[in-house]
Formats: sequence, structure tokens, C-alpha cells
Amino acid sequence: MSTVPLTEPALREAEVLRLRADFPILQTGVNGHPLIYLDSGATSQRPLAVLDAERSFASTLNAAVHRGAHTLASEATIAFEDARTALAEFIGADEDEVVWTSNATEAVNLVAYSLSNASAGRGGPEADRLRLGPGDEIVTTEMEHHANLIPWQELAARTGATLHVIPLDDHGALRLDAAAELIGPRTRLVAVTHVSNVLGVINPVESLVAAAHEVGALVLLDACQSAPHLPLDVKALGVDFAVLSGHKMLGPTGIGALYGRRELLEVMPPFLTGGSMITTVTTTEAEYLPPPQRFEAGTQKVSQAVALAAAVRYLQEVGMPRIAAHEAELGARLVEGLSAIDGVRVLGGDIDLPRVGLASFDVAGIHSHDVGQFLDDTGIAVRVGHHCAQPLHRRLGVTSSTRASTYLYTTRDEVDAVIDGVARCIDFFR
Ligand code: PLP
Repeated sequence: MSTVPLTEPALREAEVLRLRADFPILQTGVNGHPLIYLDSGATSQRPLAVLDAERSFASTLNAAVHRGAHTLASEATIAFEDARTALAEFIGADEDEVVWTSNATEAVNLVAYSLSNASAGRGGPEADRLRLGPGDEIVTTEMEHHANLIPWQELAARTGATLHVIPLDDHGALRLDAAAELIGPRTRLVAVTHVSNVLGVINPVESLVAAAHEVGALVLLDACQSAPHLPLDVKALGVDFAVLSGHKMLGPTGIGALYGRRELLEVMPPFLTGGSMITTVTTTEAEYLPPPQRFEAGTQKVSQAVALAAAVRYLQEVGMPRIAAHEAELGARLVEGLSAIDGVRVLGGDIDLPRVGLASFDVAGIHSHDVGQFLDDTGIAVRVGHHCAQPLHRRLGVTSSTRASTYLYTTRDEVDAVIDGVARCIDFFR
């Protein structure tokens, strides 16, 4: 069973209302109604502290990092590296184990391409144990976001390794019995999502990590939907890699991160190459910097990193255990309220696992785009479609769904509003 640290009380309604004042966009309206933003699973909103951090960096510190000899450049470098330390601390890592990327998708691709570069003999003898080839196996799951599936399909195609997929049961839960059979002596990597971006359930990743490590395989955790909503400690979980996106955790777009265990990053060949990641270059070869710089080719996302650090500090001030408790409450309310409506099927609604504040549902006879449009007309923003998880939808017998997702700034009234909106939508279309 997954650990859900509901050790502290949920946020009180008055606290949520106070927090909301920090988010300018939540004071706006849409289609003549106050905005009810229930699409934080896609991208979260940003508090003033984050908006101000980015602006303040640009207004007072902007310079290229790690290069200039001038004062501004060294101050910008300090801010950039302090941001790395802040994120590392937030996820329980050391700062040299955090690599900045543009988003989680790039972070997964970084690992996949680094492994295929190692397989091609790039990376030297220390990287040999990372080599993949015919006979080796990669394991992922049927519930993954495409970002944690397609890079492994491509890695398998490039290296001749075989990709196995842990199937889901009829409710949508991971079949751990099948996982136990699929993870075996030939498995080299297990890539799994911590929290499903469609079902909202927190997967029991501890047992998959144990099974993978027992056979010497590496584990990559997709923490996109967990890092924003739960206390996350990559060392306590024992994963080898973890990926996340800043824009889902109150930060700006254009910044994400890869956590990699130091011993792995030290032997991994780079994915992108070019400036800023080298020590010595001749016209025929180059020597690379140690991690994390080895994986950060080109001009970096400096103001975004600084703003993401501000987001992390904001989350820490509110308290991740309390945010997790708040969202568990909202998630349960969503699932219960939506499931009680005749004709609504909450995907994975009967899975007996802890969850975050996210639920996707199918409304019999009404396309998700129509549901989304109806809700939008009343100011309610939800996500519709396959949420980049086509295999999961196919397994559950639907082509698309409507997804409502919450965050620390979501009120119970907003959850009730979407439940009520779906009921009214059904009355409207029938
Ligand atoms: N993984 C999960 C579970 C997600 O929810 C998302 C985004 O929706 C991603 C990966 C990809 O994130 P990004 O598009 O920011 O790279």
C-alpha cells in the first residue's frame, strides 16, 4: 500500500480563501461567471510570490549563468544554483542530483536517450552497465501519460530491447500480480507513474521499486502528479530517477527537472550536447563536465528556475502534508459526488487506493467535449479528451473523459459546483 502522509489536518476553508488572494487569476471571471479553475492537473496557477520572483530576477539580476566574470553573472549564477538546492531539498535529493530540463517530457527523454547513447558505446566503460540491447527488457504500465511511454517505445526500437507493459485490471488499477511476473532477471528499467493523471490514485510504487531492485533494474518515477500534491522523498522511495514539471506545482512553464541518483548521473553520457556542458573541446572531441552541468547544454532557463524555487518555498510554507490532506478530502468529495449522478462513471472511482484531488469521468451519451463546453459556459474550467493517456482510456472502454482536478486553492464549493454542473449538463442534453 502506498504511503499517504495524511498526518496533519487538511487546510481549513478560511485558510484556502486566504491563499486564493495570492493568485490573481483566481479573482478573474470567464463567460460572465467567476472562474472555477479545476484544471490544475494540466497546469496550475501561480501565486504573486512566483510571478514576482520571475519579474524581480529579470529586473535586477538577469545575466547568463556559469560564464560571465561580471558581478551580475555571478549573482545570477548564485540565484540559479540556489533554486536547484531549493528543489533538491523539496524532493529529498542532493543538489548535484537535480538536472534542469524544459519539462518532465524532456527529463524522460534525457534518460531514454542517455541510455541509448550508452548502448551505442558513447559514455565509456563506466557506462557499460547501462547498455541495453536485444534480450534486455524495459517495463512500463498501461496507465502512463504518453510522456512516460513513447520514449520507452523509441528506446526499445533504437536498442533492440523489449518493452513490456504492466496491464490494468477492470477497475483501472495496476495488476501487481502481472507486474511480479513481468519484472524479471532481464528487466533493466521500470518506468511508472506515482499518481495517475487520469485516475488520481496514488500507485503502490514501493512494491514495484522493491521488485525492480531485487532483479537489479533501475526505476524511473513519473512524479508530475505527485510532487505538486504530496510530500515526496525520492531517497525514501528509493527510486533511481524521478521527473517533474514546474508548471504543475505553481511554477512557470518551460522548466522541469530530472532527479537522478548521483552514481548513475556520473556515468551517464549526455543527451543534448553543445555549450555549457564541457571542459575541453577540440575539433574532433570534447570532455564533459560532471553532472548536473553535463546534462544542461545551452543557455538555461534561469528566471524560470528562480520562480520555481519561489513556488517550492510557497508550497513548503503552506505545508505539503496539509496540502495532501486537503486534496484527499476534495478528491473523495469529487468521486463520491460524481459517482452519485445517474449516468456518470468515474474512471477508477472504485479503486481502493489513496488519491489526490483529481477525477476523470464519462457521461453516458454525452461527449466529453460537450460536457467541457457546457461547464465552461458557466465559468468552470475542466480538461476533456484522452489526457495523453490513450492506452488507459482504451482499457477502460472509452475514448475520452472529462477531468476535474484540484489544488491547494480549490474550495469545497468549487468541487460542489462541478458536480452540480455535470448534473445540469445531463438535464440539458437529455
Ligand atoms: N506525466 C504526467 C503524469 C503528466 O500528468 C504530465 C502532464 O500532463 C506529464 C507527464 C508531462 O508533463 P509535461 O508536458 O509538462 O512534460
